[in-house]
Amino acid sequence: MSLLAVEQLRVAYGRIRAVQGLDLRVDEGEAVCLIGANGAGKTTTLKALAGLLPAQGAIQFDGHRLGGRPAHEIARLGLTLVPEGRGIFPRMTVLENLQMGAYARRDRHAVKDDLEQVFSLLPRLAERKTQKAGLFSGGEQQMLALGRALMSQPRLLMLDEPSMGLAPVMVQTVFGIIGQIIARGVSLLLVEQNARLALKVCQRGYVLEHGAATLSGPATELAADPAVQAAYLGEV
Ligand code: ATP
Repeated sequence: MSLLAVEQLRVAYGRIRAVQGLDLRVDEGEAVCLIGANGAGKTTTLKALAGLLPAQGAIQFDGHRLGGRPAHEIARLGLTLVPEGRGIFPRMTVLENLQMGAYARRDRHAVKDDLEQVFSLLPRLAERKTQKAGLFSGGEQQMLALGRALMSQPRLLMLDEPSMGLAPVMVQTVFGIIGQIIARGVSLLLVEQNARLALKVCQRGYVLEHGAATLSGPATELAADPAVQAAYLGEV
């Protein structure tokens, strides 16, 4: 059974049908990406899965039906979204932001261990743990958002455009970290404009157009597909 199985997802903003009949699945330990042009419905899909937008269709997650559940309940089941723009708390320190990620957990000893794990994955955060997050660069804020999400012990981590607004060198750094998170066995659903990087780091992908998947398959196959290359990888 898949960790996440979505059938015929539909999401509308009034009369605008942003997602119209999307099927997708993520298996345990798998890293899956959604690629597609601006406005294809990628962000809307993640928000709907996180319970931040009303949606129609069947969503099964880790043995639970998600339809109609509020966002905080979905988060508690371990479906964690790192939103576009990261959503960190700028007036809080790095440490406080990370602790917020674990606020729903009761296993205090495991939280302490996870904090050490996050600092070993993201040493830059360890060096600056008493600093206010608002002073950080975009790349550092993205690292903090990843670290905070890991502190919630996600069953499935959803990342929305982690490369957004970052300098090229920082994009490489952030994707290196995402690669390490995947290597640690965290299940991942990644939305990313940079299709080349997304297909490099993930095992499988979906191409979204007008709110539905037009192509899907192993990332290596999608990256080698001439239509994908022409439309999303800047190759002819
Ligand atoms: P992007 O990379 O630009 O975020 P996307 O693939 O994530 O693209 P969405 O943001 O999910 O696409 O948008 C899908 C469609 O829904 C688009 O037509 C967009 O204009 C529309 N849309 C998104 N947010 C809203 C909103 N708050 N109100 C009305 N329409 C919206």
